[in-house]
Amino acid sequence: MNDLLPGEIEIWQHVEALARELFGRFGYGEVRTPMVEDTALFVRSVGEETDIVGKEMYTFEDKGGRSLSLRPEGTAPAARAYIEHSVINQEPITRWFYMGPMFRYERMKTGRYRQFYQIGAEAYGAKEAAQDAELMDMVVQFLEALELKDVSLNLNSLGDEACRPAYHTKLVEYLRSKRESLCADCQRRLETNPLRVLDCKNEGCQAIAAAGPNVLEFLCEPCRAHFDDLKRKLTALGIKFVENPRMVRGLDYYTRTVFEVIASHPALGTASTVCGGGRYDKMMKGLGGPDVPAVGFAIGLDRLVLLLKESGRKFTSSPDLFVAVADEGSQTDALTLASRLRREGLRVDFDTRGGSLKSQMKRADKSGARFTLVLGEAERTSGQAKLKPMAGGEPIPVALDDVAKTLRAQPAATPAGPA
Ligand code: ATP
Ligand code: MG
Repeated sequence: MNDLLPGEIEIWQHVEALARELFGRFGYGEVRTPMVEDTALFVRSVGEETDIVGKEMYTFEDKGGRSLSLRPEGTAPAARAYIEHSVINQEPITRWFYMGPMFRYERMKTGRYRQFYQIGAEAYGAKEAAQDAELMDMVVQFLEALELKDVSLNLNSLGDEACRPAYHTKLVEYLRSKRESLCADCQRRLETNPLRVLDCKNEGCQAIAAAGPNVLEFLCEPCRAHFDDLKRKLTALGIKFVENPRMVRGLDYYTRTVFEVIASHPALGTASTVCGGGRYDKMMKGLGGPDVPAVGFAIGLDRLVLLLKESGRKFTSSPDLFVAVADEGSQTDALTLASRLRREGLRVDFDTRGGSLKSQMKRADKSGARFTLVLGEAERTSGQAKLKPMAGGEPIPVALDDVAKTLRAQPAATPAGPA
């Protein structure tokens, strides 16, 4: 679990602000659910045989003897809230997004943490491929706006309850014939949840899975039509994708569409999936709610931030101005000037310890401020001061009443006043 401090947090804020703004354009409203839920919620939706529920949850008993779990993902909590608040009775289509920490007891490495952050979205109420396409368009626009290159969208369909059983049978038959070569986990999965074998990180198991039956060849007519419709719409939207029949995703609740966005960047190592999503038309009903189709995704924020860090782009903003104090008698006036300029919307740094002008100028340099203004007895008496450009150049004379206006008039100007 990580601490996030200024210097890095600006990247997080940038990504979060972009998500809020962009998802808003698509009509998604933010939901915030509790960090803990009844353990049963995840067992019933994510699935007992998944890595998440089987090995990774932080589960504990509270003082009332209930089994609670720190949320390992956001889809089930959002579905629970949707059911609990009878949202179906309020509108036929609901678009929600969430962001916040998730918890999984995993082996920590780059891009894989025990408290990590997701930004996710869920669209409830439409079973049509247009909804899947719209959702993926939002993911693509989001990653584009972050200027992330080298990402690829992987797409698959897992069929539904009509066609998956036949695939399932063939898969089990095939995997049984390879049983001896599977890892111990997969030998168990073979009996409890054979689809999970395709998701195994073990290279040997991956090679076996790759040579096995292809789920797309088993799709029934309606699932095939849904998948084709989706691909047509993605193409019309100009979204490039790779069809990947071995991709199943690590959660049990998916039906038909599943997708992943992979970023191939050395900074991520093996943790290269930055977004995973899919359709889960049966989950609501399975949780005791209405029969509502849904499709959603979750983006791994930690991994996005790692990529943005690597990009070398600058996300922090420096002060517009450093106010320095020439003599002790001017400190209160300098504090007041800084206060007024901040009220006027400027980013102002000020050394509250006072001290020598030389040490203050050192700090001004370090702060990255664009200008420094020295306030002493002369400036207070005349009401006139100078804006010293820290990058070099001639000082600009300024009336103490006009500092904000003058600063804003400088090229590469400062932000446009208070929000
Ligand atoms: P992986 O195959 O990498 O374990 P997953 O299938 O468990 O991923 P999901 O449950 O689909 O992942 O979560 C969606 C996204 O959340 C992932 O693609 C990833 O970016 C991020 N994520 C998942 N687990 C972690 C973690 N422990 N630390 C950081 N990010 C994570
Ligand atoms: Mg995982």
